[in-house]
Amino acid sequence: MVLIGVTPSLTEKGNMTVNQDYMDAVFRAGALPMLLPLTEDEAVMREMLGRVDGLLLTGGDDVGPDMYGEEKLPCCGETAPRRDRFEFPLCRLALDMDLPILAICRGHQVLSCVLGGNMYQDIATQFSPELKHPQYSTPRDKVHDMIVEEGSLLHKITGLTKFQVNSRHHQAVKTPGAGLRVIARAADGLIEGVELPGKKFVLGVQWHPESLSDRYAEAQALFNAFVGACT
Ligand code: MN
Repeated sequence: MVLIGVTPSLTEKGNMTVNQDYMDAVFRAGALPMLLPLTEDEAVMREMLGRVDGLLLTGGDDVGPDMYGEEKLPCCGETAPRRDRFEFPLCRLALDMDLPILAICRGHQVLSCVLGGNMYQDIATQFSPELKHPQYSTPRDKVHDMIVEEGSLLHKITGLTKFQVNSRHHQAVKTPGAGLRVIARAADGLIEGVELPGKKFVLGVQWHPESLSDRYAEAQALFNAFVGACT
C-alpha cells in the first residue's frame, strides 16, 4: 500500500492537528496517510521521506514573511514558525529526492516560497478585494471559477479547463518560485495552481480539493493522480 506522509498543524497548546478530510481523500485514493511529526533535524526528515512514497503538504496558518525576505505587515495573519522550520527543509529535501508532492493551500505557498517565490500578505489589502477568496463559511461549497491551462498537469488530471473551487485563503502566491509553471488562476488573475515540470509529480493548489473530494470527481482525481505517481 502506498504510504503518504502528511504534515500537521501545531496548536498553541502544542497538539498536532490535521483535518480528517485530507486523510479520507488519501484513503479513497487507495493509499495510507501517516502524520509526520514536526522536527528540525534534517537527518530525521530524510529518514521520514525515505519511508514514505509521497508528501502531502497541508493547509494552515500563513507562511512567515521572513521565509520570503519580508517584514510581517499588520494585514498578515497568524504564522506558524515551527511549521516553517519543519516544512521548508522537508519540502526542499523531497524536491531533491524527486518524491511526489501534493501541496495544498499553505502547502502550495510553502512550495512556492521554498523555490524563492513570495506572497501577497493579504489579498484584499495588496491585490484586490473583488473576489471572496477568504471563505469564512464552509469549505464544502464552491465559490469561484478557476481557469486551468490547457495541457497542464491539472488539465490532464481533471480533463477540465475551467471549474469552480472552494476558497479559504486571505493570502496568495505573488511571484511563483523558480521553475514553477502557473497552471490555474481565479477569474481575478490570482494564482490557484502550479506544477513543477521535470519532476515526477509536483502539484500545488491554493484551493482545498480534500473538502470537495467526497462529492466532486475532479477534486478526488488530484489525490488519485498523486497516489498513482507514488507507486
Ligand atoms: Mn481562491
